[in-house]
Amino acid sequence: MTKILIVGEFSNGKLKGSAAELLAAARAIDPAAEIHGALLGAGSGAAAQGFAAYGVATVHALDGSLPSYSSDGFAAALAPALAGYDYVLLQQSFFGRDLGARLAAATGAAWLSDVTAVEAGPVFVKPLYAGKVISRMRFSAAGLKIVTVRPKVFMPASADASASVSVNSLAESQGYKSKVTSVEAKAEGQIDLKEADIIISGGRGVGGPEGFAPLRDFAGAVGAALGASRAAVDSGWIGHSHQVGQTGKTVNPKLYIACGISGAIQHLAGMQTSGVIVAINNNENAPLMKIADYALVGDLFQIVPELQKQILALRAQG
Ligand SMILES: Cc1cc2nc3c(=O)[nH]c(=O)nc-3n(C[C@H](O)[C@H](O)[C@H](O)COP(=O)(O)OP(=O)(O)OC[C@H]3O[C@@H](n4cnc5c(N)ncnc54)[C@H](O)[C@@H]3O)c2cc1C
Repeated sequence: MTKILIVGEFSNGKLKGSAAELLAAARAIDPAAEIHGALLGAGSGAAAQGFAAYGVATVHALDGSLPSYSSDGFAAALAPALAGYDYVLLQQSFFGRDLGARLAAATGAAWLSDVTAVEAGPVFVKPLYAGKVISRMRFSAAGLKIVTVRPKVFMPASADASASVSVNSLAESQGYKSKVTSVEAKAEGQIDLKEADIIISGGRGVGGPEGFAPLRDFAGAVGAALGASRAAVDSGWIGHSHQVGQTGKTVNPKLYIACGISGAIQHLAGMQTSGVIVAINNNENAPLMKIADYALVGDLFQIVPELQKQILALRAQG
């Protein structure tokens, strides 16, 4: 029987919803697979109970003194527990990319990142060259395979099961070389780009840091995250954590509204799988206008407030 380990992430003592997407990916690999969980970091023992809702009954937890992420510390603790598994699945997040690669190096496992679908076989679908090419890959040998899965591409498995979770405590490695000593909380109310259902992004077309004000207002009013193109980030108008694209974040919201963004291939690489794309641009020939579901031609500073007004009016009608 195929044995799959899904490595979850948690915050504020709760298992993050991304575990449900990994579970869906695991079932796509083999619907009959035996699936176990893993959680790493102080507090993971309690948060591991969150797996119960998904019917995952065995969870490896590193509930030691490492308060936050330790690249080599986490890998050293988890690697010995991987014997007997066919696959380890992690999210294609900063955490998953770093830890997954380290686990692969430590165990000599096969490694595949940024998977966006799993087809019968299993065959793994992975975009290449900033999304210009879609590759289909198959592992050619048996043994451990480590895979990272792009967020929001799998419909999350439902959380309606119940299992009593048995936690296998991992031993903390004493020889780790690095650990995170502090984590800066985001401004309250700021929605994570990766988790957002709606993203409103601004590009060079906003004209300056003050040009993000109407977008921030719009995002706050409709519960959206604020994104940006690299041109806006490189100009110092907004922080890098907002950047969408090849060298920023890959996002997959239900609705992506791009304001004053031309649609360079490196930007498209990070957002083209969004559910519905709205582009606002005063140049109807901008590349993003061609791939958008709705292309609004005009000045973003006129269109954005009007769009906000219309959406809020519609919401008020229920
Ligand atoms: C290796 C590499 C990696 C990169 N990684 C990324 C990445 O991760 N993310 C990313 O975004 N880019 C990335 N880039 C940069 C990318 O190539 C583009 O330069 C960048 O995306 C352009 O940003 P932009 O669309 O905001 O600016 P521009 O291309 O200058 O577009 C601005 C748009 O705003 C419109 N506009 C202007 N004023 C208004 C107005 N008042 N109302 C409405 N529309 C208006 C203009 O018509 C234009 O279409 C990368 C480049 C390289 C080489």
